[in-house]
Amino acid sequence: MTVKDYFTSLAYAPAPESGSTAAAWLDAHKRKFDLFINGRWQAPKSGNYLTTTNPANTQKIAEVADANAADVDSAVKAARAAFASWSKLSGHARARYLYAIAREIQKHSRLFAVLESLDNGKSIRESRDIDIPLVARHFYHNAGWAQLMETELRDYQPVGVVGQVIPWNFPLLMLSWKIAPALAMGNTVVLKPAPHTPLTALLFAEICAEVVLPAGVVNIVTGGDEAGAAITSHPDFDKIAFTGSTGVGRIIRRVTAGTGKRLSLELGGKSPFIVFEDADLDSAVEGVVDAIWFNQGQVCCAGSRLLIQENIAPRFLAKLKRRMSTLRVGDSLDKTVDMGPVVAPVQYETIDRLVKLGLAEGAEIFQADTGLPTGGCYYPPTLLTNVQPSSTVVQEEIFGPVLVAMTFRTPAEAVELGNNTRFGLAASIWSENINLAMETARKIKAGSVWVNCTNLFDAASGFGGYRESGFGREGGKEGLYEYVRPASEARPRPELPPKDDAAYKAWGKAKPAIPLTPTPLPLEGEGLNGTTKKSPSLLVGEGASLPTLDRTAKLFIGGKQKRPDGAYSKSVMSHDGKHLLGVIADGNRKDIRDAVSAARSAENGWAYRTGHNRAQILYFIAENLSARAEEFARRIDSLTGGGLDSARREVELSIERLFIYAAYADKYGGTIQETELRGITVALTEPIGVVGLVCPDESPLLAMISLIAPAIGRGNSVVVVPSEKYPLVATDFYQVLETSDLPAGVVNIVTGDRDSLTKTLADHDDVDAIWYFGSALGSYFVENLSAANMKRTWVSYGIARDWSDPHHGAGEEFLRESTQVKNIWIPMGE
Ligand code: NAD
Repeated sequence: MTVKDYFTSLAYAPAPESGSTAAAWLDAHKRKFDLFINGRWQAPKSGNYLTTTNPANTQKIAEVADANAADVDSAVKAARAAFASWSKLSGHARARYLYAIAREIQKHSRLFAVLESLDNGKSIRESRDIDIPLVARHFYHNAGWAQLMETELRDYQPVGVVGQVIPWNFPLLMLSWKIAPALAMGNTVVLKPAPHTPLTALLFAEICAEVVLPAGVVNIVTGGDEAGAAITSHPDFDKIAFTGSTGVGRIIRRVTAGTGKRLSLELGGKSPFIVFEDADLDSAVEGVVDAIWFNQGQVCCAGSRLLIQENIAPRFLAKLKRRMSTLRVGDSLDKTVDMGPVVAPVQYETIDRLVKLGLAEGAEIFQADTGLPTGGCYYPPTLLTNVQPSSTVVQEEIFGPVLVAMTFRTPAEAVELGNNTRFGLAASIWSENINLAMETARKIKAGSVWVNCTNLFDAASGFGGYRESGFGREGGKEGLYEYVRPASEARPRPELPPKDDAAYKAWGKAKPAIPLTPTPLPLEGEGLNGTTKKSPSLLVGEGASLPTLDRTAKLFIGGKQKRPDGAYSKSVMSHDGKHLLGVIADGNRKDIRDAVSAARSAENGWAYRTGHNRAQILYFIAENLSARAEEFARRIDSLTGGGLDSARREVELSIERLFIYAAYADKYGGTIQETELRGITVALTEPIGVVGLVCPDESPLLAMISLIAPAIGRGNSVVVVPSEKYPLVATDFYQVLETSDLPAGVVNIVTGDRDSLTKTLADHDDVDAIWYFGSALGSYFVENLSAANMKRTWVSYGIARDWSDPHHGAGEEFLRESTQVKNIWIPMGE
C-alpha cells in the first residue's frame, strides 16, 4: 500500500491490550473470591457465590461471595473494633496510609484498568486514562485532608462506622470517592460493590492488605441487592453512603428514617446539554460525544438531553450524525474503540425497551451504521429526535448510549427546558458568549455545570445532586462534611415506639383546636394581649371600659396577615394556665400550600438579590426587634415563665443571631476549587429554594430566629411552623417583619397543630428542604415522607439543643444546611 492508500482508507489496525496479567491474577485466586473482612479473606456464611461475566463476550470471569446479613454483621463488628484505634490515629498517620494506597494504585494501574474493562465493558482507553488516574488522585487528595483535619476541621470528629453501597458504572472510581474521604476523616468502612462489577474492589482489598492497613478499617463485602439491604438496615452503622438509582435511594431514605444515621445519596440524572447559536459547533459536537457516549452513556451525569437553539439545529444535527458514523464500537480491550459493550444483558434490555417505547411515543431514530461486534452486549450510539418534553425518553434516565434532542428559541426557554426534570445532577452549556453561558449556569438547577466542556471530575471539586439526584457531595472540602460531625455532638440514638404503637397512627393527624378557655378566667387581672380586665361593675357609668379590640393573631402568608382557611382559632394561655394571653389562627393543609406557593413565588427574586441587600434587611429586622425588645421579653416571660431576665437575654441573643447571619449574607458565597482543569472551577454555595422550618418549644424566639436568619440570609424562602406551645412570639414577630422591607413571601408563618402542619410540609413536592426540631417520632416521619421528592432534611431526633450556646445554636452547620454547592467548570485558553 502506498502512503496515499493509507490516507484514503484510514483503517484502524487492531491494537489489543493484553489481558494476560489480569488472567494470571484471577487464576492465582482460582477465579473464586471470598469476603474481605477484618483484613482476611473469609468464606461467606451463606456458602453462596455469584458469577461475574465479561459483557464483551458474556463469558464467566470469576465467582464472588454472595454475602448475607450474618456476613454483613461480621464486617460491621470488625469495622467497629477497628474504629476505636483508627479514629485516634494522628491525621499524619492516616495520611501515610492513604498515600501508600495511592502509590499502590499507580503501581498496579494497568492491572486495575484491564480488570475494570473486562468486568464492566468500558473501553480500556477510558479505564486506563480516566478512571484509574482519578482513583489515585482521590487517594492523594484525601491523604492531604487527613493530614490537615486537625487544622482545617478542628471542631469535628469522625462519624463512626460507615456502610457504603456503590453501582457498577465506575466501580473503582465510586469506591475511591467513598473510601478515601471516609478514611481520611477517621472513619472505618464496610463497602459493597455492585454485583456486576466486584473485581477491582477485590484487588483494592489486596492493596489494603499490602500496605498493612489495620485490620477492619476497610471491609469489602460482595453480594447482590439483599447484601446492600443488609447494610442499609443494619443498626450499628453511623452513616450510610449510597450511589445508585433514585428508586433504590428512595428505599434507603425510608429504611434509615428516624434512626439517627447520617445519609448521603448520589442518585440518577437526566442532564441537559445546551447548545446556543453562537457556540463553536464542532467543539460542541465533540462535547456531545463525551457527554453521552463516554462509558456507553452509563454515566449518572451523562448529557443525555440535547437542547439546541432552533436556528442551528439542522446544521448541528447533520454534523452530529456525521460524527456518529465515525464512532467505533468494539471489544473493551481494543485500544482503538470509542465504546465497548454495556454492562450486562439486563441493561441492554432496559435500554432497548426504553428506545422502543420512545419510538412508540413518536420519536424518530438515528443509529449510525458503525458495525457492531457479535456475541456481546453492544448497543449502537443512538439519537432520538421528534420528542416532547413530556416523552418518557426525555424524562426517564435511560443509562445507555441514547441521546434525545429537542430545540429551543430563547435563553429563557433553554433554562426552562433544562430544568424541566425531577433530577438535578449536571448540565453542559455551550456558547462563546460568557455572559449568556454564566447566566444560564447560574439558573440551571444542578450540582455540576460545565461551560464549553463536559463530564469533568476531580477530587478537589464536590460532585452531587440537586432535587431527586440526591443530597450530599463527594469530593472537595464540601465532601468531607459527609464524614464528620461537630465534635460536641454525639451520634443520635433516637428511641422510637414500636411500629404498632398508637402514636404512629396518630402522628400527623390534626388535633382539634381548643378554641375557648375551658374554665372561666378571673375577670380581673391580665386579659387578652396583656391588657387589664376590669370588673363588671365598672362596665357602666362613668369610667366604664369597653371590651378590648380583638387582636387575634393571623397567619402570615405572602407578606400579608391572613385568616386561616379553616376559620378555627386556638387560645394561648400564660405559663401558669391562669390567663388567656391571646388567640391564634389554627392553620391547616391549605394554609401550608398557600404558604409554599408564596415562598416559591418569592424564591427567585430573593435569591438573586445581592448578599449586601439581604444583609441590610436582616439588620433592619434586628433594629426593629431591638426597638420592641422589652415587649418581646415580657411576652416570652408570660408564655414560658422563665423569668424576665432570661427572656431579655433571649431577645438580645436573637438580635445577635440576626447580626451573625447578616454578616454571613455576603461571606459564604463559595470558593475556587483547585482542580486539574486548566481554567477555573467555582464552587458556588447556592440557596436550596423553599425550606420548611419547624421550630422547637424551647427558647421560642431565639430558636425560631436562629433558623430563619441563616435560611433567608443565604437566599432561601421559608415556611415557618413556630413553637406550638408559644406561637405568640412568632405572630408578634411578623409585625417586625412587616416593617423591615422584607419582600412578600420570603418568610411565611403558619401557626397551629405542629405535627399535622409538619406532615403537609414533608409530603409537599414543592418543598426543597425541611428542618424539624421536634420529637424522635416526628423526625422519623419527616425523613420518611421526604423520600417522595428527595427533599433534604435536618432533624433533631427529639434531642433538645441549647440555643443560647453559640456552638449549638449558630454557626457553620446552619450555613451548610441553608445551601447546596454548585460547581461551575470554566476552561481557559484558546
Ligand atoms: P442500583 O440502584 O440498582 O444499585 C446500586 C447498588 O445498590 C448496587 O450495589 C446494588 O446491589 C445495591 N442495591 C440494590 N437494591 C438495594 C436495596 N434495596 N438496598 C440496598 N442496596 C441495594 O443502581 P445501578 O444500576 O447499580 O447503577 C446505576 C444508577 O446509579 C443510575 O441511576 C446512575 O445514575 C446512578 N449513579 C449515580 C452516581 C452519582 O454520583 N450521582 C454515580 C454513578 C451512578
